[in-house]
Amino acid sequence: MALGIYISVPFCRTKCSYCNFASDVFSRAVFERYVERVCADIENAERIAREAGEHMERAVDSIYLGGGTPTVLEATQLERIFATVRSEFDVLRDAEITVECAPGTLTPAMLDCLLRCGVNRVSLGVQSFVDQEAAAVGRLHKRTTVLEDVARLRAAGITNINIDLIAGLPHQTADGWEFSLAEAIATGAPHVSVYMLEVDEDSRLGRELMAGGTRYHAHFTPDDDATADFYLVAGERLEAAGIARYEISNFARPGFDSRHNLKYWKRQPYMGFGVDAHSMLACSDRGAEDGMVAVRFATVDSLERYISGEPLPRTVVNPKMALEEAFFLGLRLTRGVNLQEIAAEFGEEAVKTFRDAIAESLNDELLQRDGDVLRLSPRGRLLSNEVFQRFLSAPAAAQ
Ligand code: SF4
Repeated sequence: MALGIYISVPFCRTKCSYCNFASDVFSRAVFERYVERVCADIENAERIAREAGEHMERAVDSIYLGGGTPTVLEATQLERIFATVRSEFDVLRDAEITVECAPGTLTPAMLDCLLRCGVNRVSLGVQSFVDQEAAAVGRLHKRTTVLEDVARLRAAGITNINIDLIAGLPHQTADGWEFSLAEAIATGAPHVSVYMLEVDEDSRLGRELMAGGTRYHAHFTPDDDATADFYLVAGERLEAAGIARYEISNFARPGFDSRHNLKYWKRQPYMGFGVDAHSMLACSDRGAEDGMVAVRFATVDSLERYISGEPLPRTVVNPKMALEEAFFLGLRLTRGVNLQEIAAEFGEEAVKTFRDAIAESLNDELLQRDGDVLRLSPRGRLLSNEVFQRFLSAPAAAQ
């Protein structure tokens, strides 16, 4: 099966208050050292895979540059990354090649560079079409910037565009959220991602909200119920516009599901390069090493430690872990989990082990069952982590 490649570029023009990614603002001097290290890793990909204990496909059908804001790199640096990938892998002619862009970073020179690199999909970190909301969390663009970027991408021939939105930003109101959804739909972008604001220790806004403070407009943040309502409304408005949900947070017009992201949820192989980049390689010979089904490994989330070449700890995925993944990753998808398929892959006994978790989740209206297919209910989507936890703690039979 063809491989997906993820490349992390952890640099941004400013740090958004809600951001809990391993990205930050660095001087341009750091960019060059970073690109050098990433390219060296790409050149050594086969050795990295071998050391992790697995074989790596050379055929690649998706490349995704994210982070971070890849478009803050120099055009020559981006070109070097893509040239290195193409020299080490067989990038298929119809590969999906995505770059995440912060609106306003698509200069004419950058757009030309993306086209030269073969980029055919752009993901715009819009988050809100209401200027006050975007400004409050440190975004540097306005609504008009986004509309101009979309128009320029289309004029350049890149029509496969994703728009990211966040429900629950400071100052967001029901009307403001309806406006953002309507604007996203009106752009005609074939893919929209809707995330609920994450409140955790890893972002400045998250820490302020947890402390009950007022910095970063924290006291203007909608409460959990309002954010949940915004998320539900998003599903309704996007579905009504023909942009169907295919994953908890992802919606697409027919034929525009993200091939790259689907690899994560379908447990298909991918290699990640750069800071905080995850890889999963499926074991070609099941049971070759102590019941090993796949191997996962990830780089560190510290830029300095990554550049200095810290070794990659690996996790061997045994059948029990693979079975849990089949449930909690598969349930993310609208198509759900087919119990017959799970039984065919892991054995009848394995499905029976999850009988209680399934029954309780159906009873609590977190799951819905349609023949052999299990899906998250609308309520289950809002409480998905709780559902997944039940499948992680179920006593599994596959060993
Ligand atoms: S642009 Fe994206 S990655 Fe960068 S700080 Fe903002 S949210 Fe984080």
